[in-house]
Amino acid sequence: MVHFVGAGPGAVDLITLRGARLLEAADVVVYAGSLVNPALLAHCKDGCAVYNSATMTLDEVLAVLLDAEAAGRDAVRLHTGDPSLYGAIREQMDALAARGVAFDVTPGVSSLFGAAATLGAEFTLPGVSQSLIVTRLAGRTGVPEGERLRDLARHGASMAIFLSAGMLDGVRSELLAGGMDADTPAAIVYKATWPDERIVRCTVGTLAEAAGDVRRTAIVFVGRFLDAPYEKSKLYDPSFTTGYRKGTT
Ligand code: SAH
Repeated sequence: MVHFVGAGPGAVDLITLRGARLLEAADVVVYAGSLVNPALLAHCKDGCAVYNSATMTLDEVLAVLLDAEAAGRDAVRLHTGDPSLYGAIREQMDALAARGVAFDVTPGVSSLFGAAATLGAEFTLPGVSQSLIVTRLAGRTGVPEGERLRDLARHGASMAIFLSAGMLDGVRSELLAGGMDADTPAAIVYKATWPDERIVRCTVGTLAEAAGDVRRTAIVFVGRFLDAPYEKSKLYDPSFTTGYRKGTT
């Protein structure tokens, strides 16, 4: 059986218990070496065959997974963060399904959430934003029409922009073209939860300069959730009645 496992954002204790157990039991591990913390491989048992997918093609990854399956061995495909975000797992799952190979998916803590924890941020502040847009700037991988950063920026929602730290001039010009003010707060979180994590707080207008030498492994957050005054939640307001608590008025 093949197990797709989310490794979490970087810190070794941010993999799930289920993910760690699958890693401990695996005979074969294929990990995304460009982003997964290699310290996680300490979970692997002696004799486990370990492959770094950073230097492999899809067909090469599939060949390792299919060989493991044919030999009756358990394989873990270890992806950074949560595999459902920019993880390229669908193409692997479809190829396995087409060959009748059973697989399951164990979620992980996305770097998006690792970085939010680092920032001490809440994306969904009452009176500020109740939505989070997870996206990227079009680069070598395009984005569909209607999902251009300038179109998404018009919502004024909280934004987490992946895979774009090397193109911050482009991020800024798209956000401004979408009507966002240049002084809208922004933050760049590099290697969230890793020992060499870095945070840069800036504005949309200063994104490119503020980033310094950060070009990759960073998420760009944009939105008033980063500093605006907000309303307190209704859920914990003493006057508000909920299914569990009677309000005072
Ligand atoms: N599935 C992953 C995302 C993979 S795409 C997840 O859920 O986090 C790779 C992009 O993720 C990077 O370009 C960067 O934007 C972001 N990323 C991955 N790990 C990160 C980390 N520890 N800190 C900040 N950004 C990270």
